[in-house]
Formats: sequence, C-alpha cells, structure tokens
Amino acid sequence: MVNLAIIGGGPAGYTAAELAAKAGLSVLLFEKEALGGTCLNLGCIPTKTLLYSAKQFHNALHADKYGVTAENVSFNYAKIVQRKTKIVRKLVAGIKAKLQDCTVIQGEATILSRTTDKVVIACANELYEAERLLICTGSDNFVPPIPGIADNPAVWSSTDALAATELPDSITIIGGGVIGMEFATLYMELGVHVTVVEALPNILPNIDHDIIDQLRSKYEKAGVTFITSARVQAIEGNTVRFRRTDATDDESLQADKILVSVGRRAHLPCLDNLPELRLERGTIVVNEHMQTNLSNIYAAGDVTGKIMLAHVASRQAQVAVNHILGNTDEMHYDAIPSVIYTNPEIACVGLSETDALLNANAVIRKLPMTFSGRFMAENEGENGLCKLIFDNQTQTILGVHMLGNPCSEFVAVAAMAIETKQTVSQLEKLIFPHPTVSEILKEIV
Ligand code: NAD
Repeated sequence: MVNLAIIGGGPAGYTAAELAAKAGLSVLLFEKEALGGTCLNLGCIPTKTLLYSAKQFHNALHADKYGVTAENVSFNYAKIVQRKTKIVRKLVAGIKAKLQDCTVIQGEATILSRTTDKVVIACANELYEAERLLICTGSDNFVPPIPGIADNPAVWSSTDALAATELPDSITIIGGGVIGMEFATLYMELGVHVTVVEALPNILPNIDHDIIDQLRSKYEKAGVTFITSARVQAIEGNTVRFRRTDATDDESLQADKILVSVGRRAHLPCLDNLPELRLERGTIVVNEHMQTNLSNIYAAGDVTGKIMLAHVASRQAQVAVNHILGNTDEMHYDAIPSVIYTNPEIACVGLSETDALLNANAVIRKLPMTFSGRFMAENEGENGLCKLIFDNQTQTILGVHMLGNPCSEFVAVAAMAIETKQTVSQLEKLIFPHPTVSEILKEIV
C-alpha cells in the first residue's frame, strides 16, 4: 500500500506528486492522457506559445513605429503550430523528469472502495491500494445546449483551434471571456477577421471597466467586431444565429469557423463507489486544507470549482500535501493574481473597484502606464492603466488592476503586498529596479 494516490497529472496532480515524494511519501500518480493536464497540453502553454508568434509578427508589421524597417513580413502558421508542439513536448518531458521518485501509471483510474484507512483504485486491469487519495481530475470545455453545435465541422472548441494547422479567413467567437479574448488576440494579430459574440453587456465580465474600455476600443480599431448582450440561439453550418437582449428578431453572422468558448466545467472521476463524497454544483467540496468530507480523500484544482487557474491548482496541491504531512497550511483566495494574455496584457489581483466601492473607506487611484519610462520606451502609442485600491483607514492595499505589457511579470509584487497586508507607505519605501514598468506600482502610491 502506498501513502498517497493521485488521480490526474495536471498542475495540481504533478505538483502534489513531486512535493509528496520529496517529503518521503510513496506516491502513485494516475494519468489517462499526457502529464501536464489541460494547462500544459491544451491551455496555458500552447496558447501563450502561439500568442508569442502572433506578437512577433504584429511587432514586425508595426516596426516602423520604432524606426525599424521590416519589409515583406509574413508568417508560416504550420511552423508556428510546430513550434508550439515542440515546446509542449519539452515541458511534458520536464515534468516526467521531476516525477522520477513517483510511480506514474498511464490509464484511467477508477475508485473501487474506500475505508478510513485505505482507498482501492483500479487502473489498466491492476488494483492499487493507498492510505490517502488526492483527486485532481481537472475540467472540460463546456458545450452549451445550442442547436447545431454537435458534429458541426465549422465549430471549434479551444482544443480544435489549438490543433488546427491552417488559419481560417474569418472566425466567430462565442463567449468573450478569457479563452475567447486570448484567441481573439491570436487571430486578430495574424489578420483573421474576428467577431466576438458575448451574452453579457461587455467582454471579460469580471475585469475592471476602465481596462475593458481601453482594450475594447483598441481591438475595435484593429478590426475586431464585438456583439455584446447577444445570446446565440442556433448554429447552422458556419452561420451563427443570435438575438440581442432588447430585440425580438434574430440576426445572423457567417464565418469560416466558429469557436465556442463559454466556460469550463469540473471533470469528476466516476464516483459510483464513493456515494458519500460531498459534491456541490458538480464540484468536489473541500475545506481550507483541501480535504473532502471523507478524511483520507482530498481534491485540488479545477475539480474543486474554486478558481480555474493553474497557479491556484498548484497552490491547492501544496496545501493538501502539507496537511497530509501534518504541517500547518491553509488555502486563501484573497490575493490570487490573474492574467489575461491579450495585447496589451491584463493583470489583476485583489478587490475590484466595484467591490471596493461597497466599502466606504476604499480609495481608488488611477495612473496611465506612461508614467513609467520603460513603458514609454517600449510601448509606442499605448496608454495602459494602473489602478490601485486601498483602505483609507488602515492604508492597506486591497487591489491592483493593470493593462499594459508586461504587467503579468510583476503582478506578483502586488499579490505579495495584499497577501502580507502591506500599506501604501510600505510599498512606497520598496526599492524597484529602474527603469522597469514595475515602477508604476511605486508611482501610483
Ligand atoms: P469564461 O467564464 O471566462 O467566459 C465565458 C464567456 O462566455 C462569459 O463571458 C459568458 O458570459 C459567455 N457566454 C456564455 N454563454 C454564452 C452564449 N450562449 N452566447 C454568448 N456568450 C456566452 O470561460 P472561458 O473563457 O471558456 O475560460 C474557462 C476557464 O479557463 C476560466 O475559468 C478561465 O479563468 C480559465 N482560463 C484562464 C486563462 C488565463 O488565466 N490566462 C486562460 C484561459 C482560460
């Protein structure tokens, strides 16, 4: 019997396996597809790789802004996709290497039985026993019940879009959330005609309104069409039929491809033999130690339905392993940075302006990113934005919201300030390297 069995080898599963093995536990990790999960194989890494190529092309096309002449700029999309595949392969190999002290079993694991001191799991015709189980089975693309989606060759999921080796001339993206906007960025920069249809009044519903206004107007100038407050009614071939909230008639839109990106849903393993496991709205309920209501069963990552981000999953995995090892640790969700890889990119952490305004003591400060010399040097024609929210009474930092490259690279400073309850004057005294875009965090206080 091993100390810990883990189902799922994504950021939660592989992080937990590595940490537990390093601490001396015997670990079994079950993975039915490739190690690395959605993030590495079908999400974060492949999209960022494609987006980087698109950014290179876009920068070369607009090099004259920086006094550089680049003629006959072109790209080879098949090569861009090949590079993405190579990078994913290398990173998967890197994870395999990190898991040398664990036993990795390739196949779909089924939970057969559970008592307070033992869990029995079947995989590829073998039986395995573990003292504890950590479920990290992730999430799947949600397919909405829109007539005409199933078996329609014009319809893409994000997985289909990543696998395609040719670009469409035009694309309709259903859902202006994170996935929709990152693909809109990729296609826009590579010259595809993009239309985004979003059910809510604006794209990226949870992002700061000033950031969205600036980003949306930039994308519109670049030729992207946004149809908001519009719900898709049906898809017929490559035509999307939608209805605006205040309208009584449908309108339609035609494009070569239709990308459906309307969210993800937790992927539960078969739980027939664990009827007592507590679930809520299709996710596994966990406490602050990532422990379920069954004392030797833990869950981490998208399957817990908390915040579907790889860095949340890996931190949850760390908390679960620490609890199993008897170390003090608990999961908090107040200072989780989130980044959206549009161009310019968006990075946020902490309380939003809307939530802060419910608190009478909140102070909101805004500054264009152009207050940073490095930003000016490298972002010709861009304004960007940094918004700081702090408590007027305690002076503690509550939220930071930014638009401008490369804010993803220093949002962790703001996350640390929020997590450790730093005040504005403490942030002011911190020494930032000059010239960097990160200095905006000092300028704004
Ligand atoms: P999402 O929830 O971010 O966005 C889905 C959007 O689709 C919403 O704006 C919703 O209003 C809209 N929508 C739903 N039904 C619709 C309909 N019928 N017609 C038109 N619009 C409709 O979901 P996502 O973009 O699919 O992303 C899934 C998850 O993956 C999220 O949790 C996200 O945080 C995560 N993710 C994160 C990153 C990142 O961190 N950079 C990148 C990609 C995905």
